[in-house]
Amino acid sequence: MSSCLFCKIASRELSSETVYEDDKFFAFKDINPISPVHILIIPKKHIETIEHIEPEDQELIGELFLAAKKIAKEQGVSESGYRLIFNVGKNAGQAVDHLHLHLIGGKKLTWK
Ligand code: AMP
Ligand code: ZN
Repeated sequence: MSSCLFCKIASRELSSETVYEDDKFFAFKDINPISPVHILIIPKKHIETIEHIEPEDQELIGELFLAAKKIAKEQGVSESGYRLIFNVGKNAGQAVDHLHLHLIGGKKLTWK
């Protein structure tokens, strides 16, 4: 999608601090990190939100988590632990309408 910020990042039309790329996924450092490790992992395919995934995306979404696991290892947080988050829609504060998985770690994360 030509007007989408994250499509532009994945195609390198816009620059980012890229940490991972393969034929289906692109991962880069969040511009406003909330922890020492804060990576956004996106499918190159433009899908707006988890609400927009279809049965045909089943394999892609599974592979997204395998990519996340690989990136967590590369970022050195596999053993210390990390959090994976999808914000979905308004109440979750989703700001960019291109599916992105937040990988957050590098410190003890609070919960509740
Ligand atoms: P969300 O609130 O789940 O939609 O998350 C969007 C995330 O994208 C936020 O954490 C932003 O800091 C991040 N973000 C927005 N623009 C950029 C950019 N150009 N490069 C890297 N991260 C970005
Ligand atoms: Zn997009």
